[in-house]
Amino acid sequence: MRDPINDILEFQGVCIDYPLREYTLRAVSDATIGIKRGKITALVGESGSGKTTLASSVMHCISSPGRVAEGKIYFSDRSGEIIDVTALSEKQTRSFVWEKASMVFQAAQSALNPIMTVEQSFIETYKEHFPKADKKEIVEKTRKLLGYVRLDEDRCLKAYPHELSGGMKQRIMIAFSLLFDPQLIIFDEPTTALDVITQDYIFRLLKKINRETGISMLLLTHDISVVAKFADYVCVMYSGLVMEYGDKYAILGEKKHPYTCGLVGAIPSLNGDLSGMRPIEGSPPDLNNLPEGCVFSPRCDRCEKRCFEKRPGLYALEDRQIRCFKYEEGGRL
Ligand code: ADP
Ligand code: MG
Repeated sequence: MRDPINDILEFQGVCIDYPLREYTLRAVSDATIGIKRGKITALVGESGSGKTTLASSVMHCISSPGRVAEGKIYFSDRSGEIIDVTALSEKQTRSFVWEKASMVFQAAQSALNPIMTVEQSFIETYKEHFPKADKKEIVEKTRKLLGYVRLDEDRCLKAYPHELSGGMKQRIMIAFSLLFDPQLIIFDEPTTALDVITQDYIFRLLKKINRETGISMLLLTHDISVVAKFADYVCVMYSGLVMEYGDKYAILGEKKHPYTCGLVGAIPSLNGDLSGMRPIEGSPPDLNNLPEGCVFSPRCDRCEKRCFEKRPGLYALEDRQIRCFKYEEGGRL
């Protein structure tokens, strides 16, 4: 691991494949980034860009038949130990997941067991990890967590999932993710299916938790406006590749990568004036049939001849990493 003090997680040349009947789909190619400790990092990209696949690799839960084909993932524990996540056994994975890092999956609200009260769900999950744990202590901890995500403890403990609103269920899932005091939490599109006001509330809550506890967060979203508001760092993904990565203020403040510019240009402005809004033309390429050159070249408005012929690497500039030939002289990573 290159920077275990500042980074909690590092992907080194991670490639993730889905071996299908006819061919193997490479959903993530050569991901090499460090995720900053104590910060909120957004993985942003259109649907199918590989966000869920990459994040799931940390938790050993890539959906079948996916697998990490190449590369390493390292986790820098607060004790100073460096954990090679890719090498964890099944047993080690069970304690790593939840106790070191946890993940709130997309549409997680529906993952709550419909025939258990919230209290029963928390007790059962806790006992799966620590069978000898005292029930009273678990309930006490659950109360604290529910209060922390601003839910009425008494009402929620005895409630069944169908008695709760979508926003409440999502806050319960957030409380769940905090159950074993993890150092990193991954949130996969945590506000899908929630109304805009509730979305904003949830994101503000996540930011508050991050600032108060110092838990590192990886936030997966297709919405660049969420990144602008809530993230500290941003990693832009496209067709399984990291296109740009760095501090939010650098990436969104001084826009460089044509794809990032496109994402930002596609946000409607607050006053509803759509004249400056420019959605990116076209759609992402088929992963099984990627263009020979830069994967973004068919949609890029600043394309040059070489962009159709060769793949650009991820180049290191002073304030970011960027996959675009225009910045090649900045030095190859
Ligand atoms: P995102 O989260 O950015 O929407 P995903 O990681 O879900 O993207 O998907 C990346 C690519 O991997 C997509 O092309 C998707 O179709 C493919 N994919 C995801 N899961 C599977 C699977 N279980 N089997 C085959 N292909 C998959
Ligand atoms: Mg996804």
